[in-house]
Amino acid sequence: MDRSAPQITSFHPPRRVLMGPGPSDVPARVLQAMALPTVGHLDPAFSGMMEELKTLLRWAFQTKNELTFPVSAPGSVGMETCFVNLVEPGDTVIVCVNGVFGGRQAENVRRCGGTPVIVEDEWGAPVDPDKVRKAFQAHPQARILAFVHAETSTGALSDAATLAQIAREHDALTIMDCVTSLGGVPVLLDEWGIDAAYSGSQKCLSSTPGLSPVSFGERAVAKLKARKHPVQSWFQDLNLVLGYWSGAGKRTYHHTAPVNPLYGLHESLVMLAEEGLEASWARHRAMHEMLRDSLATMGIEFVVRPDARLPQLNAVRIPAGVDDAAVRAALLSDYGLEIGAGLGALAGKVWRIGVMGYGARVENIRLCTAALRDVLGRQG
Ligand SMILES: *Cc1c(COP(=O)(O)O)cnc(C)c1O
Repeated sequence: MDRSAPQITSFHPPRRVLMGPGPSDVPARVLQAMALPTVGHLDPAFSGMMEELKTLLRWAFQTKNELTFPVSAPGSVGMETCFVNLVEPGDTVIVCVNGVFGGRQAENVRRCGGTPVIVEDEWGAPVDPDKVRKAFQAHPQARILAFVHAETSTGALSDAATLAQIAREHDALTIMDCVTSLGGVPVLLDEWGIDAAYSGSQKCLSSTPGLSPVSFGERAVAKLKARKHPVQSWFQDLNLVLGYWSGAGKRTYHHTAPVNPLYGLHESLVMLAEEGLEASWARHRAMHEMLRDSLATMGIEFVVRPDARLPQLNAVRIPAGVDDAAVRAALLSDYGLEIGAGLGALAGKVWRIGVMGYGARVENIRLCTAALRDVLGRQG
């Protein structure tokens, strides 16, 4: 084997404006927090920061759940953490599928040895509560309902309060994906009675990718404690993780926490606290409306009906005759602007314009609409 080192030098990423489905623009304050000195993950100073992080996350999720912490991995692992801990072999789980991420929840149920009962809705439509009621009637043995609050693949927002209530009426737990909703629209775990939820650091929280805040309520913890089979994932077994994330003083080694990314998440939540939850929701809505009105003057149409539209994820139809990939490539090369392509059933048919977190500001909306107008104009 050749011992001479590869001739590679430091990586310098280009400057981009991130208006896709995530990651979103990360503010300098968060990046600076991540550049602070690394401390040991069992250092008392770090434990203090972790306690603050849990307090901030409980506030962001609007919950008193003791078991609220960031999983050391991206949103997909937060999703798996919910399923591997709460679904046992033989469990029936009602899963609402109205886009890519609901499909992944169903796959998680299968891999846990459970049986998913799929409640399907059209891509771009919210979950239909009546179909969920019918699924519970047809499958009274179902003990869990899973759904995606904010479907990032389509831009649809579902009625989490109603879905959670239906689950309660049938004595079932609720697992909610709020990766894209947290910080951008109301997420009220306790008021709605959500039993388990997972989110992500890189959407409306505007931290860097790679962390997944999760929260588990008492009923979820009771189901976990009553398991007959051990959780098949060692890393995600909450019985073990708990010893690590539990209160200061009694922490034991489980894995090495990603120290600096956690500084970043802490800072992004401090920024959210400074702004206030309601102010953040209002800002996302205002920026969405500004974008919507500009796109309307270009004749660009939305996929989702007005009352179910996510302000932070705008799925719009690509005008007829327009070259999808060429437009996105020109936005990136000429404006440093990233918007998202369609996923799954909507691939090639839509663009997904993210107005998330720090990206939800006037200059971004202006840049995006001016750039689109220019690039579409050049395409004729
Ligand atoms: C982004 C996203 C995920 C996955 O998060 P990763 O950090 O990419 O693993 C899951 N669900 C929804 C709704 C998302 O938008």
